[in-house]
This record gives sequence, C-alpha cells and structure tokens, in this order.
Amino acid sequence: MSPCEPPDTTATQKEASAPDLPEGVPPLRSFYIYLSDSCNMRCRHCWIEPQFIKGKPDPGHFVDPDLLHDAVLEAKSLGLHAAKLTGGEPMLQSSVHELFRGLLEKDYEVLLETGGHKSLKDVDPRVHKIMDLKCPSSGMDNHNDYKNIRYLNSGDELKFVIGDRADFDWACDMIGRYEEALQVGDIHFSPVHGKMPFEDLARWILSSGLSVRLQLQMHKIIWPGIDRGR
Ligand code: SF4
Repeated sequence: MSPCEPPDTTATQKEASAPDLPEGVPPLRSFYIYLSDSCNMRCRHCWIEPQFIKGKPDPGHFVDPDLLHDAVLEAKSLGLHAAKLTGGEPMLQSSVHELFRGLLEKDYEVLLETGGHKSLKDVDPRVHKIMDLKCPSSGMDNHNDYKNIRYLNSGDELKFVIGDRADFDWACDMIGRYEEALQVGDIHFSPVHGKMPFEDLARWILSSGLSVRLQLQMHKIIWPGIDRGR
C-alpha cells in the first residue's frame, strides 16, 4: 500500500474480530466439507472410484448433518467464517438445503462445488455456487443439466475441465451459445492433470480472446504424487 492510499479498514475489522486464541495458534478461517464420499457420475478424469449397487452408481455415505452442525458451531469460536461443501457430489445429500440454511443463519459464507447434473433451482441465492459443465472427454456431458445455467449469478463460478482440443472447442461453443443466459462471475478452464498440458491450454485461451481463467491444481504441481502439501 502506498502512503497515499486509505487504510484497509476491512483488514482492521477482521483483526478486531479475531478470536482470542493462544499465541501462535492461527484462526480457523474455513472448513472444506466432503458431504458425500462418492458420486452418481463417473467422469473419466475423476479421482473418485465409482461404486455400484445392482449395476447403478452408488452415491456413497453422507456426513451426519447433526454432527456437522455441532462441529461447525464449535469451530465458530476458533474463527471459522466460511464452509465449502463438496464431495463426491454434495447435492446428493438429501438435507443439503437445510445445511445451507443452518450455516447461512449463523452468518457463515457458504460455497458449493457441484458437478452440475443435479438441479440448483432451489439452492439459496446466498450460496456461492461453483458448477461444472462436463466436457465430452469426461464421458458424462450428456448428464449436464443446462437449466442450471440460469440459476448461476454474478457471484458464482462456472468450470470446464478440459482434456483435449475437442473439449476446448466445445467449451468455447457453450460459452457462445449461452452468452445471454450466462450471468456468472468467473469462468474457469482447468486442464485434466497428466493429460492436458497446461501450457497448450494457456496458449489456446490467449488466442481465443475469451475472458476465462486458467485454473491449475497447484498442489499437484508443487507436490506431485501426494494428496496434499506437507
Ligand atoms: S461429477 Fe465430480 S465428483 Fe462426480 S464423478 Fe464427475 S468429477 Fe467426480
């Protein structure tokens, strides 16, 4: 910040409301919650091993909503102010709307990561949605619920996971086709790790002139071969 700029009051307010924690203990800002451990889709690039019951994809086990509610309340005193709900597919959780409401009523910021094949019509508009449109190389593009596009707003995000040039062209075509209905904030193009070189994708994005962001899975680049940084 230059001396001429006004002080960052947001930062000051955040500091003022920081929880009273022992020295050296950082506040817990956000939860990343896996609402279900599986999905009823089977995208080729996905790390989730699909499970089946009687030949049908099994959505897996769900987090106990009461347990989650208690954990989130307990974490408030540690500084928690945001929860990102993901999976598997979080929209398969039957009480997902109650969970949204419960968190929003407690003034948490709520983010939802969804594959885009379950309807978002009834999702509380205060929830920040991050939705995929499945590209052809996923093998699941025929499950996209295109009506969901109209339920995204300027605070939400749309993501395409790109596996090859055909996916890229398809994604560009979709953006053009839904241009009027697309009120979304950011659009991300994310390369399939180990398949789609991100340098190529970056070049294609630049030459397309589209206002989209290249999204990389940083942990896979910085810490290849392990689940998370250490
Ligand atoms: S929708 Fe998401 S969680 Fe489900 S299989 Fe596809 S990538 Fe995996």
